[in-house]
Amino acid sequence: MPFYDPAKIEVLIDAPSLAARISALGAQITADYGPGTELVLVGVLKGSYVFLADLARAIDLPVEIDFLGLSSYGSSQETSGVVQMTQDLTRPVKGKHVLVVEDIVDTGLTMQYLLQNLMTRLPASVKVCTLLHKPARSRVAVPMDYVGFEIEDRFVIGYGLDYADKLRNLPFIGAAVNDEPPFPA
Ligand code: 5GP
Repeated sequence: MPFYDPAKIEVLIDAPSLAARISALGAQITADYGPGTELVLVGVLKGSYVFLADLARAIDLPVEIDFLGLSSYGSSQETSGVVQMTQDLTRPVKGKHVLVVEDIVDTGLTMQYLLQNLMTRLPASVKVCTLLHKPARSRVAVPMDYVGFEIEDRFVIGYGLDYADKLRNLPFIGAAVNDEPPFPA
């Protein structure tokens, strides 16, 4: 018996599908930037840590890894749009090619804030790679250069994404059966 109740969590994107898509994203990113281009992968904590780990190994270029923390006030499932930086990058990105790695773009407000913030640091370029996108919830247009999967408007968990800071270690993207959280601990 796994640590969660499989009867209460539905698998939306299984582990082999995630692996295949991330391998394709890595190949595309490698080809687009071209041989030898140095990249800084900027992961947005905490949700992107699993995706970033797999994506980095699918990119055949020299990469540096950095993280920053963002949180938005509001309930656990709905952003208020007021974004706060909780942890900054450890190194300057001036003159560097930055690829932002995000778990999910929902309303787009978090990504809008992040891109505005990064542009003030004068990077050579900024692109965005998000594993998931919920087009139905978009409130602001943000550039997404690489999208793993477009998903319907459901609250998803696993593969880095949490419910109340838990379930990040599910090896797949899932959702509550009938969309009825709370999930079993
Ligand atoms: P946005 O600012 O685009 O509305 O929201 C971005 C952030 O909200 C994501 O980085 C993620 O932390 C959180 N979020 C949005 N949708 C979901 C979801 O379906 N599941 C989880 N676990 N977090 C979500």
